[in-house]
Amino acid sequence: MRILSGLSTLVVLSTGMGKSLCYQLPAYLYHKRSKCVTLVVSPLVSLMDDQVSGLPPCLKAVCIHSNMTKAQREAVMEKVRQGEVQVLLLSPEALVGGSGSGSSCLPSTDRLPAVAFACIDEAHCVSEWSHNFRPCYLRLCQILRDRLGVRCFLGLTATATPATARDVAQHLGIPAEEGIAVRSAAVPPNLRLSVSMDRDRDQALISLLRGERFGCLDSIIVYCTRREETARVAALIRTCLHATWIPKKNLRRPLKWIADAYHAGLSAAERRRVQNSFMSGQLRVVVATVAFGMGLDKSDVHGVVHYNMPKNFESYVQEIGRAGRDGEPAHCHLFLDPEGGDLHELRRHIYGDTVDFFTIKKLVQKVFSPCKCGTASETPGRRQGEEGAEDPAPEEEEEEEDGGVTRWSEQRRRVCYKHERAIPIQQTVESLDIREEGIETLLCYLELHPQRWLDLLPPTYSSCRLLCYGGPRQLRAVARSSPPIAVFLARERLAGRDHSHASSLEFDVVSLSDSMGWEVALVKRALRQLQWDPRLRQGTGGKSGVLVEFGDLSFHLRAYGDLTDQELDSVCDFLHRRVVAREKTALGQLRTCFQAFRSVAFQTCGPHPEEEEEEKSSCLKALLNDYFEKEPAGEQAEPACEEEEEEEEEDLGDAKLRERESQIRADIRHFLAIRQDEKFSGRAVARIFHGIGSPCFPAQIYGRDRRFWRKYLSFDFHRLARLATEEILASR
Ligand code: ZN
Repeated sequence: MRILSGLSTLVVLSTGMGKSLCYQLPAYLYHKRSKCVTLVVSPLVSLMDDQVSGLPPCLKAVCIHSNMTKAQREAVMEKVRQGEVQVLLLSPEALVGGSGSGSSCLPSTDRLPAVAFACIDEAHCVSEWSHNFRPCYLRLCQILRDRLGVRCFLGLTATATPATARDVAQHLGIPAEEGIAVRSAAVPPNLRLSVSMDRDRDQALISLLRGERFGCLDSIIVYCTRREETARVAALIRTCLHATWIPKKNLRRPLKWIADAYHAGLSAAERRRVQNSFMSGQLRVVVATVAFGMGLDKSDVHGVVHYNMPKNFESYVQEIGRAGRDGEPAHCHLFLDPEGGDLHELRRHIYGDTVDFFTIKKLVQKVFSPCKCGTASETPGRRQGEEGAEDPAPEEEEEEEDGGVTRWSEQRRRVCYKHERAIPIQQTVESLDIREEGIETLLCYLELHPQRWLDLLPPTYSSCRLLCYGGPRQLRAVARSSPPIAVFLARERLAGRDHSHASSLEFDVVSLSDSMGWEVALVKRALRQLQWDPRLRQGTGGKSGVLVEFGDLSFHLRAYGDLTDQELDSVCDFLHRRVVAREKTALGQLRTCFQAFRSVAFQTCGPHPEEEEEEKSSCLKALLNDYFEKEPAGEQAEPACEEEEEEEEEDLGDAKLRERESQIRADIRHFLAIRQDEKFSGRAVARIFHGIGSPCFPAQIYGRDRRFWRKYLSFDFHRLARLATEEILASR
């Protein structure tokens, strides 16, 4: 009713409770009434085709994602335009643009029928506080609103705490008081939950799978954190359960495999084989990383085992939600490492995602590289005109000269319009040693800042290579017929660079377009046309003998070029605070999660008396419900946790800690001595000692040296980074 009345709404429903119906029914009714189309944004590109074919027969849907060819997209859009479909599924990248696609494949509005509403699936990805925040989601709503004129949003998610829900609601423009319409219990009632802290996890897992609860189940998922572990555990299960398991009589197909591993590192064919045999019931246990199960539609999974602790309650609830979709009783068990080993393992992932102040500063300098707007020589006409328009009233000007604080002196007058800039993705990933998503997140923060430091545009190829087969003479001819090339060569001459004997050029087409005041697309088209320009033709044939190529996929943005040092510092501070806050939140969630599981854990995996199991299960469900439905106790929660962490470390004792530190320092020195010709930052060394891969120091290479990789996983990351920095400085 809310969607049919055009009211934006957020729906929080656990898996299998009918979230899809919430968009399908209104989409059907809207189309029946007025032929409009409903947009559904879903992050699961690999499952989109399944989603389309899995819809009810009365609902016709098509999808557009960045893996499609232009012709395929055109064909799909034609159907939409004809009003033949009710639902258009889009991947976020298809809307926003992302690497791989090169640019957004967004259809223009005039080519679309009226949009009824936009449904955002997995809406928690919009919130940066959620467990799987996706930077491109942040810009999604803005694009839907600005470019497609969407007014009504439906957000769907299975997991959102009140804080996440508020954040999502704000992004979707949903009034917080009334817009969060539906909320279900976090855990379906047919699930029986249990936790144990067995000393020998492998042994315990086998006896659990042989035992009363799991022994008779014919479809089980076992989740592990690490890829290597999935293969090992699957082999263990195969060896130990072989011949002891007697399948139920009513199996649809004969069982072929007892256990198999699944993770994102396997080949696509291998993943498909495992998934298909599990779906068809020929594989009993799949041992997987979290990569398995997104959008999985198998209703008769009756057991989910967590071999390792998940990183937060959101992941836990999502993963156990894959059991008992058919409403039959289902069992979920979690093994909690009594020593807290899983905690260290999971902290690793959090540190892998954060960046230090120095790296932020380097990125900020790239984004806001200085321009010449302020200098009179650049564009005198434009500058004067601008000043005339923005001149403050005379009396205010006087105030400023008097030294009084007025709004004019507080907010420095900007002469700079934003400039278009390209930040080459691969090059920046390597020089800053952060992953692409990490850079994208930081850029999004700057766009969403109240001062809107920059505008992000869809990624683009920024470097242009122009090659004249006709030699320098032909290049001179090109300069005569192409304004962009003429401008570029004139600039180069001013800068003292001579290209008169060259037959090829390479330049940044984005900054060239910006300095000319032309649109990038226009300049690119003009350059591309040189390849067919009859005036440049050397002999016969259609081509001109001029080759134009674009390369270097880049973040494309508009940013100021006249920020003062003070402003640059405050931008860096702002970003750094955000990064630190995110890290803190993630660590806090991890701790909360561990403590909650510990509070309901059995010493061993059982068997235990029925009532006792039932009691602990309800107790854990209550904790989960509190987490998802109640506001946190407030600010007090944080410091209390921190104190506890400090206690944990003080347990080591001062003398012992110093001894440990000197051993670590010795290892750092050893490491640096072996790899003398490589440049490390303290953070890079800490990552290696924690076993965290990064673009410049990937796990495949650095993980081979077992002397250092993961060696100090349990030692505080930041302290380790500090020690490494000290050693690096001392070694120079
Ligand atoms: Zn400027």
